[in-house]
Amino acid sequence: MSQNAYDPETAKQEIFAYAKKRGALAVGVADLAAIERIAPPGHRPSDIMPRVKSVISVGVGGQTQGAWTVPAKALGYFGSTETRAYSCVYALAFFMESMYGAPSVYCPPDMDNEAGPRVPLQSLKLHAELAGIGARSLAGDILLHPEFGYMYFASVFTELELPPDEPMADNPCPAPSCTDMYRKIGQTPCMKFCPVQCLSGKIDAEGKQEEMHYDMAACAEMTQQYEAVPAMLARALEAEDATQRTDALFDPDNKMLWYKMSVGSGGLLAQCFECMRVCPIATRSPQADPIRRRNSK
Ligand code: SF4
Ligand code: SF4
Repeated sequence: MSQNAYDPETAKQEIFAYAKKRGALAVGVADLAAIERIAPPGHRPSDIMPRVKSVISVGVGGQTQGAWTVPAKALGYFGSTETRAYSCVYALAFFMESMYGAPSVYCPPDMDNEAGPRVPLQSLKLHAELAGIGARSLAGDILLHPEFGYMYFASVFTELELPPDEPMADNPCPAPSCTDMYRKIGQTPCMKFCPVQCLSGKIDAEGKQEEMHYDMAACAEMTQQYEAVPAMLARALEAEDATQRTDALFDPDNKMLWYKMSVGSGGLLAQCFECMRVCPIATRSPQADPIRRRNSK
């Protein structure tokens, strides 16, 4: 593949326009040198694509307004819209190869098979943060955007050199109402309503984040249900008799895991959403959902 002559600024505009046509709400180019400096060895873009020149991050919208009103057991199934982000960047990688002759890949959003199920191959969050399309929140560093609220992110790596964007200058989290609540009870809404109390932190006198603590293991126990499958199988293998084995495999909760696996449900690996359900940025930003976006046009 040989690269065509291109103007970097024009190409960037064309790429952004295409990504938006494919469903992205926000698009940015991350500073590759910064990612390479911050990401640990083995998890840098050049570890996946040695000749990478640019990392493009896209964010797609989350739920409808109505979705935030349904019970947790329903939201766990359809709350996540991440696959929309992946199909967008998959198309974008093809677009870039055909337009500019630059080898491009859809960055795998998956876990590193040498490091286990809690270590991703790449941090899509770092890409999005450096590309300026999200800022780290008090809810376990979930990225939030002042206009679009809560998005799902995906990245493209490419050999096309593009001018990078800057990270956001201001972080929308905490929202003023969260700071008010923190001053009264020492917790923000995401901290207060997390069912396993895995979030804590401090807000300074200016209303800015001072500290954020996130107990990832507690959150994962609640939300990463794929981790429950081997534990359940171990219990079945260790069972002393057929009744115990049947209980381990066919207990109603465990049978739900088989169901989720058989339908490939995102409920096996999605978050529980309670921190975002109560987040004013996620749910009430000016363009946080389709109705607000339509009304803002
Ligand atoms: S996803 Fe659920 S368990 Fe994890 S931080 Fe948010 S509210 Fe807490
Ligand atoms: S509820 Fe949202 S805006 Fe408020 S502190 Fe938590 S993450 Fe930040």
